[in-house]
Amino acid sequence: MISSVPPTIRHGPPRSERPRISCVVPALNEHDSLLLLLPELAELLDQISSAWEIIVVDDGSTDRTPQLMTTYVTSNPGVYYLQLSRNFGKEAALSAGLEVSSGDVVICIDADLQHPLALIPDMLVRWQAGVDTVYAVKRNRDDESWLKRVGASMFYGILGQGQRVRIPPDAGDFRLMDKQVVDALIRLPERTRFMKGLYAWVGFKAEPMLYVPAERLHGHSHFNLLQLIRFAVDGITAFSTWPLRTFNLVGSLIAMLSFCYGSYLVIDYLINGHDISGWTTIVTGMFFFSGINLMALGTMGAYIARIFDEVKQRPLYVVKRNIGQKLPENES
Ligand code: UDP
Ligand code: MG
Repeated sequence: MISSVPPTIRHGPPRSERPRISCVVPALNEHDSLLLLLPELAELLDQISSAWEIIVVDDGSTDRTPQLMTTYVTSNPGVYYLQLSRNFGKEAALSAGLEVSSGDVVICIDADLQHPLALIPDMLVRWQAGVDTVYAVKRNRDDESWLKRVGASMFYGILGQGQRVRIPPDAGDFRLMDKQVVDALIRLPERTRFMKGLYAWVGFKAEPMLYVPAERLHGHSHFNLLQLIRFAVDGITAFSTWPLRTFNLVGSLIAMLSFCYGSYLVIDYLINGHDISGWTTIVTGMFFFSGINLMALGTMGAYIARIFDEVKQRPLYVVKRNIGQKLPENES
């Protein structure tokens, strides 16, 4: 799976040896990391592409990122700075970057240097061999707490239930995509941008590539446990109706069992007469069924909240400023 030999034989026009590449870098308070990443990335892109652009999407940074980027874009052609009006979340920032990108190939990469640039040439080789999306998959989750790991495996378990679209577990946003894939992603109208799911939904030929994430050198992760839970609920409600169907099934089962028990009680009453014992049964049953009811209502609520978000039709993000140089239009 991780051999460097391209496994796909492509039929159709050959893909360029040195394509036009767009890099989308979402950044929230990554001043120090951007200072290191941008020159390194530019140097690599010089070697592997005929023309390139690095789109830094500032997702409402409150550090010195705006000042840095304002001066950086003037002295570094090819770097484009898109500043959002506030923090809209990584998924919205990525969507913003994808929308303005125009390369034949688009690479999404975090600003924090956790995604090794050394993987990019290999990703490109696979693209040239005909793979439309090459996505990086963490080799292991040893760097994460057990709670995060158990949570992740439960999350992917639920997402994978009876899905037509298989969302690959542990695939992150570090990926290389053909222009066709990006165009398809941009056309998706939904507000809740659960990108991992959307990447899978659009289809095309995708292949994983294992990697070991680097340590974060500057700043800190922006995703705490609560945010991860919210993210998981978004993902599940956006891509699976399994929880709703499960409650339907559980409800039917309980109704059937209750009917049997009720019939037994009626027959018992007719044969043995009135019996006032059974307080424990009543109370336990009441708690149990109230619990199930509330859980089912809560699950429905999560889906309704999603519908609410979608019908408002608000834009995904608001751009405050865009400066720098975009990739020139393709001559061909
Ligand atoms: N990020 C962003 N908006 C956010 C949160 C994060 O643009 O609301 C960016 C962040 O600057 C980084 C990338 O998304 O470049 C990944 O974030 P982080 O490193 O915090 O996530 P982790 O690697 O811990 O999953
Ligand atoms: Mg990170």
